[in-house]
Amino acid sequence: MELSIQSVTKTYRRGQTRALDDFSVVLTPGVYGLLGPNGAGKSTLMNIITGNLHPDSGSVLWNGKDTRKMGAAFRSVIGYMPQQQNLYDDFTAKRFLWYMAALKKIPHKKAAQQISELLAMVDLTDASSKKLGAYSGGMKQRILIAQALLNDPDILILDEPTAGLDPKERIRIRNFISKIAQDKIVLFATHVVSDIEFIAKEIILLKAGTLLLKEEPAQILRRMESLVCEIYLPKDMVSDFMKTHRVTNLFADESGVTVRFLNDPNHPTEGAVLKKPMLEDVYLFYFSDEVQT
Ligand code: ADP
Repeated sequence: MELSIQSVTKTYRRGQTRALDDFSVVLTPGVYGLLGPNGAGKSTLMNIITGNLHPDSGSVLWNGKDTRKMGAAFRSVIGYMPQQQNLYDDFTAKRFLWYMAALKKIPHKKAAQQISELLAMVDLTDASSKKLGAYSGGMKQRILIAQALLNDPDILILDEPTAGLDPKERIRIRNFISKIAQDKIVLFATHVVSDIEFIAKEIILLKAGTLLLKEEPAQILRRMESLVCEIYLPKDMVSDFMKTHRVTNLFADESGVTVRFLNDPNHPTEGAVLKKPMLEDVYLFYFSDEVQT
């Protein structure tokens, strides 16, 4: 199984905005964390993969075949979870899944079986007759994942599946995705690094429509060794320190603040202690101009 995005360029507003710029990537089964700040081009990429948008140039190949030429045959192997929109608030969960199954042209008997299995899998069997408008954020995310899984797709495209969830629900959804990801190509778009830190096979960093890197988390972290430090400062020194250092996190206690920052090996900071890097540090390393400190 291989999904290959080849030299895809997409512009908006008659070429003024270049959302994707000669973007290429090859995906095989496993979870890919698609990471980038707002405006990086994540949604554009997902919409081009699903066929909702056409690129200006370039193509998407599924096992070597052009997906635009495959048409319905490609749509039957792909599941897409969009961001939560209140489109279906009047539908019960069950009716919503039946509706999506009809759009995917799944035969009645097969749909009945899949819907009951998927409702059980996302733990919503008991709530299946409730209207989606009455669902919590986490329940809505789970039903959106369920519809993406109709037809047992080989490719699963998830657009910010943890958006708007509380920390407990976030962990639940994350674990759930990791469990169902076996034997599927999963593209998990987020700007929350912790979402994909432990479940991604590879991280794809997207910035201004271009690929910054595509690598295993462990490999990325290895390259960051010797860059991440912590220093303990009195509270009144923190704001000056932040003007001259790339700070990734702050932990305050009664007497001071532990400041985590990216060390400049050419100008080491006195009193700083080297720390094991985390993906959050990597994100700041690549996107510090877009992160407010
Ligand atoms: P992300 O999903 O990473 O936030 P998007 O793919 O939504 O990024 O956007 C990439 C760029 O394309 C941004 O500069 C955005 O403003 C622009 N863009 C996206 N959709 C449109 C559109 N329909 N019309 C004009 N510009 C758009």
